[in-house]
Order: sequence, then C-alpha cells, then structure tokens
Amino acid sequence: MDHLDPGTTPWMAARVGKAFEQAYGGTPDLVARAPGRVNLIGEHTDYNGGRCLPLALPHATYVAARRREDDRVRISSLTVEGEWTGSTKDLAAAPGWASYVTGVLWVLEVERGFDLVIASSVPVGSGLSSSAALECAVAVAVDALHGHPLDDVRRRHLAAACMRAESEIAGAPTGGMDQLVAMLAPDGDALLIDFHDDSTRPVPVPLQEGGLQLLVIDTGVRHALADGAYAARRRECEAAAHLLGVPTLARASEDSWSRLSDDVLMRRARHVLTECERVDTADQAIIEGEWAELGAVLDASHASLAHDFEVSCAELDVAVETARAAGALGARMTGGGFGGSVIALAPADRVTDVAATVAAAYAARGWSSPTFLVAEPSAPAGVVG
Ligand code: ADP
Ligand code: MG
Repeated sequence: MDHLDPGTTPWMAARVGKAFEQAYGGTPDLVARAPGRVNLIGEHTDYNGGRCLPLALPHATYVAARRREDDRVRISSLTVEGEWTGSTKDLAAAPGWASYVTGVLWVLEVERGFDLVIASSVPVGSGLSSSAALECAVAVAVDALHGHPLDDVRRRHLAAACMRAESEIAGAPTGGMDQLVAMLAPDGDALLIDFHDDSTRPVPVPLQEGGLQLLVIDTGVRHALADGAYAARRRECEAAAHLLGVPTLARASEDSWSRLSDDVLMRRARHVLTECERVDTADQAIIEGEWAELGAVLDASHASLAHDFEVSCAELDVAVETARAAGALGARMTGGGFGGSVIALAPADRVTDVAATVAAAYAARGWSSPTFLVAEPSAPAGVVG
C-alpha cells in the first residue's frame, strides 16, 4: 500500500511554522488547520437546496498566522509560487490564488494586518476541495486571533463567510457543501447536510465492518471548461426550478422533472431529484450495512452525472469502469466534474489491485498515472498549535 498517500500529516503544523520563520522571521501566533473533503454522494445538490453526504479527509491545509499592528497583509504558500502583499484596503482586489485568502479577510472585515504562510497536503484542483480547506484554515486562524471561541454557531458563521469569500472575491460560485463539511465534520463520521434548512447530522460509515475501504482516484486532470460549465449548470437548474414553480429544484416533487418539455432542463432536474433520493438510499444502506446497495447507488449516481448532468469526462469514466471491473462494489466521480477525482468502494484486500488496474488502464491510453488515497473520515477545522 506504500503508493497510497495516507494523508495523515501531523508534521505539517511544524513544517508551516518553520516556513513562517523563513518567510517572515520570528514565530507565528498560532497554526490553524482545515481539511479537504470527499463527497460520498449528493453531487450538484447543495446549490439546489438538496442533500449530500461528504466526509472530511485527513489531508488538510495549514495556516501559520501572526497579527500585525499596521494594516499590511503578507501571504505566501508553499503550494504555489509568489507572495501577495498589500493593505487591508486592497483585499477585494487580490488576484489568483491569494483571493481565496484575502476574500476571507475581506468578509471578516479585518482592520489590522496579518502575516500568513500556507502549507497543504490537499491535492489542488482535484475535486477534494483545497479551496474550502484554504478558506476555512484562514478563517479559523484569524477568528482565533480575534479571540472568538470556536463553538458550533461560530463554525457555521465562518463556513458562510468562506462561502461568500469564494463566490464574491475568488469569483468561483460555490454551493456551500465544501465549507460546511470542513467546519462541521464529525471526526470519524460522514456528515449528512440538508440544504433545505442547513441541518446536519453525523453518519457513522463503518466500512471496516464490511471489509471495505473508500479509494479516492485523483485523475490529475482538470478540463478548462470546468468553471464555465459549473456556472452554466447552476443557471439551468435555476431555470428548471423556475419552470416548475419552486424556489430550488430539491423542493419539486420526485417525478416533476417529467413535466419539463426542454430535454436539457428535464435531464438536469432529473439528476438533482434522483440524486437527492440516492442520498437517502445511501444513508439507509449504510445504517443497515447493505454495502452492495451502497455500491449500486454510487454507480447510479455516476450514470446520472454522466448522462443527465453531463459533467463527466473520459478520464473519470475510465477510472469508474476500470475500478468496477477490478472488483469495486461501486464507483462514481466526486466533486464538480470535468476531471478531478473518482471514489470507489472496494474490498480492503482489493484496494491495491483496483489502484494498480486503474493506473494500467491510464498507461495503456498514454495518460499520466492518477494518484490514489484511502479516505478515512477525519477532523474538522481547528487551531492546532
Ligand atoms: P479544489 O477545491 O477542488 O481543489 P478549486 O478550483 O475549487 O479546486 O480550488 C483550487 C484553487 O484554490 C487553486 O487553483 C488555488 O487558487 C487555490 N488554492 C487551494 N489550495 C491552495 C494552497 N495550498 N495554496 C495556494 N492556493 C491554493
Ligand atoms: Mg474548490
């Protein structure tokens, strides 16, 4: 299993502290951490007022932070080139990756400056939500330096702030799942989120009782149309909801999609409504330990995302099909689509074989190898040092 990245990174806090010293001299006031996530099921449902079932990964983004007495902000990341420096008055205008950080500072209306150094073990742009991990780690760090206790209400407040930062400043419309699970994940369990009322419930997923593991296959691919297509899907969902006379698609009755005469809108609505049902089926299958049923629901989700929502691509489909052929009980793309990652529910003693078979299928097509990790439900954002 040595080629599977375990993601457990207790040394990351020390590494980011050291990097802080090198970048800015002296020590940080604190280090905060927020996890990446993988979504078990419920894709493209958050912005439709529906349900989803993500879990936090052990992979996380770490932020070493120090308060300043003036209004300067300095940000550097070990993941990407370049440093951003500016004043608290420039926060809304930072370009590129720095906007994910300054967006959070802007929403939180900071007055004084900060020195921030970032390190991460979350693969970037892989559908595992490095963006929310970054935002939430920054939010927790800054909030702690302002002296706010991190209770459940504050966690929800910060998740909402990070969602605004990503949508309004980083310019990436986001439905809220990523930030909520990064802030609220119950350590060791998945989190059922219902966006009708933002209610959440821990869902224990005792895969080991079924002799199973959740393999994440990061295709390493991200197609250029991803962002534009995401926005287009959101618009189509809003149009379908409007035609059905409901505020969000998830409020429409189960088979109401069949009333839509436009073929594209009909299929978009069918995906959202059937996906919400699949979340409920998966929830029940997990409670009952019906792992074959859970696998079948993952398969059905992939089919719906590929054919009705049209957000899959060749690399995702090959990973899904190969994983199933190699013994996975079920597999599907996870995250927004057009590249990113696939999850496969596989017998623990077959996980290495499944990974090797997918890598071979990629090699046979001349594609570079995907990377693999096993998802273990992990802890939510917090201060770590
Ligand atoms: P995902 O959230 O699936 O990883 P996104 O496109 O939503 O993909 O977010 C990726 C972007 O977030 C990166 O392109 C970069 O701008 C920013 N980002 C994420 N993690 C980091 C990091 N550790 N350092 C700097 N920027 C980061
Ligand atoms: Mg993201």
